[in-house]
Amino acid sequence: MISKEPVIAIKSLNHYYGRGSLRRQILFDINLDIYPGEIVIMTGPSGSGKTTLLSLIGGLRSVQEGSLKFLGEELYAASQSKLVQIRRNIGYIFQAHNLLGFLTARQNVQMAVELSENISQAEAIKQSEAMLASVGLQERVNYYPDNLSGGQKQRIAIARALVNHPPLVLADEPTAALDKQSGRDVVEIMQRLAKDQGSAILLVTHDNRILDIADRIVQMEDGLLTRDAQNISTNQHK
Ligand code: ADP
Ligand code: MG
Repeated sequence: MISKEPVIAIKSLNHYYGRGSLRRQILFDINLDIYPGEIVIMTGPSGSGKTTLLSLIGGLRSVQEGSLKFLGEELYAASQSKLVQIRRNIGYIFQAHNLLGFLTARQNVQMAVELSENISQAEAIKQSEAMLASVGLQERVNYYPDNLSGGQKQRIAIARALVNHPPLVLADEPTAALDKQSGRDVVEIMQRLAKDQGSAILLVTHDNRILDIADRIVQMEDGLLTRDAQNISTNQHK
């Protein structure tokens, strides 16, 4: 089948931290394409540059060298307003769930809806509750994060990341703080929702137990992305 346009197309990307004599190259000639609906897992040792690459893809850091396109839009030399626009089209899930403690589960999700769209409050509430139900938290919509387990909090973070149906979800070690079963539940929910919505996922993990949800696995080592480790799925829609 003919490939669709990639969600992410990275060519010859380099990245450096520090200035002058302290300048150090962190990413070396990264090339990576991610297609709609594809689940890509990135593994690799701590300090190898995974979070740096994710923050560049997410428009959270400026591209210094090379080309990085999100749905055909070049991020190299992009204006701040373009980066803001791109960030609205990406769902983020971090190791720490980054929920706001003074908002309930529903309000945390609802804020993402209201930031992204011109939408009535009633509709935002409806969408947020539906999304929380789809991650199995219909009984917990009015709970505050402090009164929920780690796995439940991460499921709220997933609901928040996916409620606007973004074409891309970036997840940086989303199961690192969870026990085995909660971690498994969380990635299976991400996988199901992303497939339902056609969202691509780029997920960084050290957790070998969840590699099987990937369509493709890539490995970062010392700032170099090595060839795809394996192709698990044989029925990718490309
Ligand atoms: P990973 O996510 O794979 O653990 P990172 O992308 O966080 O790797 O870090 C890659 C390297 O860049 C590490 O050596 C880290 O110490 C360094 N680094 C990360 N962030 C910064 C920063 N803001 N300033 C300077 N060095 C950094
Ligand atoms: Mg990291």
